[in-house]
Amino acid sequence: MTDLHTATSQADCIFCGIIAGTLPAEVIVEDDDTIAFMDISPATPGHLLVVPRAHARDLLEIDAENLDAAVRLAQRMARRVIERLDADGVNLTNACGARAGQTVFHFHIHVIPRYAEDVLQRPWEPGAGDVASIARTADLLR
Ligand code: AMP
Ligand code: ZN
Repeated sequence: MTDLHTATSQADCIFCGIIAGTLPAEVIVEDDDTIAFMDISPATPGHLLVVPRAHARDLLEIDAENLDAAVRLAQRMARRVIERLDADGVNLTNACGARAGQTVFHFHIHVIPRYAEDVLQRPWEPGAGDVASIARTADLLR
């Protein structure tokens, strides 16, 4: 039996629909492997999404070639928002999993231009860390 939900396209995926041209988007750049289009709910003016054409759920699932292509396009888009929108900086962000805030389960990198006057903040409160706890966690990660 043919599985319609293949590794490269999913019928119920918004971003696969944009890539297929069946859903509208303000597309900025596309090539064989990736596409960049405007986020429909921008955090700041110029907020873009960089998306591999091949459907992969998230950072854990995407293959190295598509991840590489997406990161390269994200860098290109970061340079472009600085040049053309006079942004003062850029955040690249990715949410992997619902707990991390992922709402569309087709891997994507947010390219968020930053401006001197914008009000975006870090998603955490920077504060003094506990040195012993950091060391214990580091042991788990080595
Ligand atoms: P995340 O919550 O990190 O998975 O990011 C999903 C992003 O996709 C959000 O910033 C949404 O605003 C954006 N988004 C959802 N639907 C569309 C759409 N049809 N066109 C463009 N951006 C979209
Ligand atoms: Zn998809």
